[in-house]
Amino acid sequence: MRGGATLDCAIVGGGPAGLTAAIYLARFRRRVTIFDAGSSRAEQIPLSHNHAGFPDGIEGPVLLARMRAQAERYGAVIERAEVAEVRRAAEGFVLGVDGVERVARTVLFATGVFNLRPPIDEAAHDAALAAGRLRYCPVCDAHEVIDQRIAVLGASSHGVDEALFMRSYSPDVTLLTLDDCELHEGDRDNLVKAGVEAIASPAVSFVFDAESVRVTLADGRALDFATLYPALGTQPNNDLINALGLMLSGDDCVLTDKHQRLGMRGLYAAGDVVSGLDQISVAMGQAAVAATTIHNDLREIDDQAAD
Ligand SMILES: Cc1cc2nc3c(=O)[nH]c(=O)nc-3n(C[C@H](O)[C@H](O)[C@H](O)COP(=O)(O)OP(=O)(O)OC[C@H]3O[C@@H](n4cnc5c(N)ncnc54)[C@H](O)[C@@H]3O)c2cc1C
Repeated sequence: MRGGATLDCAIVGGGPAGLTAAIYLARFRRRVTIFDAGSSRAEQIPLSHNHAGFPDGIEGPVLLARMRAQAERYGAVIERAEVAEVRRAAEGFVLGVDGVERVARTVLFATGVFNLRPPIDEAAHDAALAAGRLRYCPVCDAHEVIDQRIAVLGASSHGVDEALFMRSYSPDVTLLTLDDCELHEGDRDNLVKAGVEAIASPAVSFVFDAESVRVTLADGRALDFATLYPALGTQPNNDLINALGLMLSGDDCVLTDKHQRLGMRGLYAAGDVVSGLDQISVAMGQAAVAATTIHNDLREIDDQAAD
């Protein structure tokens, strides 16, 4: 079953990237709908202190609510729905949304990534995140834990990089692991040089209270930290893009040209799902570029059709 008029642009994902693109496209007087499954990583931000323009910080959910209101003010439509399929069609693209086919001339993927989590039950995880005992983004919030006792979880080169990054904030950084794994010699040397202790015995449990996180190790020791940074990597939400046969980068994110175009005419991507720095400001910047490209590409197609 087909539903609704043909959209100029269907945006998949309603985080900072998708919402910024919707604001721009709606102001370009384009017919635009966001389909959003509702799991923006920005919803998990208790208080961001690095987003420019908010010197006292802004809560992720508040920022998203403001952006939704701004997009809707100019006529963008936001639907809470998961897009199950995107395929090429004569009119552009067909999206499978809740069993209904929606047609769009262009599609912007702003589907984000999700963080791989340590084994902590969801309620405890979310409470620890809200309290700042658990953090996922050193670039965003290491400034909030200066001189505190910090644990980084993940004895991979990613975890090592994150532990070394944290050393410019605190002299007390420990690298933990979830499993028995050997660090590369170069990584081990760099940790020793930086004064970061790498603990070989795997972490088996995490208990959070108002002040600290207690990590119990397989060898029976219990260690207390002010905050824990899982560095277990992210998984991009790239299924739809993968199914279209588009090229992914080494980290399974997507590669775009400098105008945010993907390798198939009419398709674009912005935000965390694109390979690069995962930050709100980057997502917004890419979305502004993508929306302007989409508008100009459609103008060009319409001009050619009119000739
Ligand atoms: C705890 C935490 C704290 C952070 N703090 C900061 C900070 O202080 N400053 C900062 O700059 N960044 C911060 N970040 C990073 C920031 O949240 C992300 O960079 C930003 O949200 C990326 O925006 P996005 O729109 O690309 O993706 P997201 O915000 O993740 O949005 C993607 C959206 O796409 C939807 N989606 C995915 N697949 C589909 C589908 N098939 N159909 C429909 N919808 C779909 C998802 O449900 C989601 O709503 C933090 C992240 C975390 C986890």
